[in-house]
Formats: sequence, structure tokens, C-alpha cells
Amino acid sequence: MVSTQRQQVPHLLADVRMVSTQRQQVPHLLALRARVLQPTAMRLLERLHSGRVILMDGAMGTELICRGARPGAECLELRNLTHPEDIWAIHQAYLESGAECLTTNTFQANSCALARYGLHDRLDEIWQVALHLAREHAGYQPLVLADVGPWPGPLDPDVDRAILRACRGADAVLLETWSDPRAAEFFAVMRGYPRIDANGPYVPLLASFTFRRSAGGRLETFSGVEPEGCVEPIEPWADALGANCGVDIDMDDLLEIVSRYRAVTDLPLFVRPNAGTPDAEGRYPRTPVALAAKLPALLDAGVAMVGGCCGTTPAHIAAFHEVIVARQVAPPSG
Ligand SMILES: [Zn+2]
Repeated sequence: MVSTQRQQVPHLLADVRMVSTQRQQVPHLLALRARVLQPTAMRLLERLHSGRVILMDGAMGTELICRGARPGAECLELRNLTHPEDIWAIHQAYLESGAECLTTNTFQANSCALARYGLHDRLDEIWQVALHLAREHAGYQPLVLADVGPWPGPLDPDVDRAILRACRGADAVLLETWSDPRAAEFFAVMRGYPRIDANGPYVPLLASFTFRRSAGGRLETFSGVEPEGCVEPIEPWADALGANCGVDIDMDDLLEIVSRYRAVTDLPLFVRPNAGTPDAEGRYPRTPVALAAKLPALLDAGVAMVGGCCGTTPAHIAAFHEVIVARQVAPPSG
């Protein structure tokens, strides 16, 4: 179904497909996309191809839990409206740790998940405030990624159309913690990516998958796809490919995933490791020092962007920042 409707996607997507087979020709790619890119989005794409590592932020959800949020009992994305000072402070702490890229507090801000809390009609409001809270930090010019997690239930064009409309003000869209590359493809292609609407800007799209070890020891997503299998469905439209979080997935596993990605694609790669599996009290075992000790191997493998997922804190991001600076591939100061 997807492949037949691909013929209907806008002309620019055909351009991007053509270019995606010529990833080495980066200047050409950037010139092509500059026609419709916002300046900050252009800055992000240039950095992804520059060889200088981009430092992202760490977890939002577990930081909100530390501030009293109760996952499952409440909608964490509603905190954009009820506790904006907390969201802003978390973003600010990550910027002060060296992050130059912030993700919005919108992981489950889709009509399907919001409906569980009777909030389906507040999607636009939640997104608008989330983008503002990530963008506005005096003295910093963060790149803002619109965080989009997979939604419960079947694929639904109305759900992803609403999300795409809502995240127009971001520098890029981050599909995070996805398991099914065909679902990510549906999100991107069925709605006519890369343009959100006929006259809208091009918004880069980053796709990140979550892995576990199967009973047989295979690395696979929760829908049973191995790293190589994630590439073909997303390569025509994604600007970067990543791996984040996971069940009992450590930095060595991420290194394997990245290496297997790299064997079959030239897309820029990124990782957002978690801090391990929490104990009964919700404490995460992997310290900033422990995660940072494994970062050089991932950078050696060609990772272009790194941040943190569940259980990571501003201290983890600060430890990553030290590693990146020490390798003299630090983010620019301004
Ligand atoms: Zn996570």
C-alpha cells in the first residue's frame, strides 16, 4: 500500500530519494534542500555532515518523575501546561551541561495517547508550549527537535497529520523509540514528507529505533527487525538514523547496532543510550562516568550525534561533553 502511494508524494521527495543514493555528495544535498530549509534546520543538517559531534540532551520523562510526575497516572506532556517551569528548568540544565540540541516534551503528544486522559483536543496547545519552552533560553540558541514517539493503536493518517502540523516550528522531527520501520515509513511518506504541507518548509526527519536481545540472543526491535532491516524503509526520507533506549541494551550493544547500520548505509548515525534498567526504587544503575567511558568507541564508529534516554541526567550529558571536548570535536560555542 505504501509503495503504490509513494508515487503521489511531492516532487521534492523524489529529489531527496535521488540524493539519498549519493550521500557522499553532501554539498549537493545541502544546496538542494536549502531551497526550502529554515536556517536552523540547515544548521542541523550541515552539522550532521560536518564530522563534529552534536551533543543532544538527556532524558525528560525520568527528570519529570524526579520532580513528582507519576507516569501512567498522569499525562507527562500535560506538564508543559501545568508545570512549564519544570520543563524549562530541565532544558536549561541540559544546555548548561553542554547540550546544543533539545528535544520537546512531546513523546506521547498524539491524539491517540492524549485521548486516554481526555486531552485529545489539547494537542495543538501542548505542542505550541513545548516548542516555546525548548526554544526560549537566553544566551543559548538550541537546535530544537520535535520528539515523536510511536502511538498506541493502528496507523492513522489523522494522527500523524496532526503531529506533523503541530511540530512545524521545530528544526527537525525526531521519531524516537520506534520499533517498526514500516510504521515510521508510513508516518514520513504517506503524509508527503519532507514538506508538511504544500507551502511549508522542509523539516529534517531523524529516525531512532529501540532494540532488545531476543531469546536467541539476536539484536532486534520489538517488532523483530534487526538493525540492517531498519535501513531500507527509512533511507529514502530520513536525514539520520539512530538507536535509543532499549531493554538491557548497553553501550556495547549500541556499538554493534551502529556498526551494523554503518555497514549498509551512509546516513549520519546517532545514539541515545539509557542509564540501564531501574531497580525497585526507580534508581538507574549506569553512572555518568560508566556511560562516558564507553562513548569514545561509539564516536570512533562514526556516530554524529549523541544524547541520553531514560535515567540519564544533566550529569550524564556533562560527562559526554567532556569526552567530546577532549577529542577536539566539541560543539561550537555560539
Ligand atoms: Zn528511554
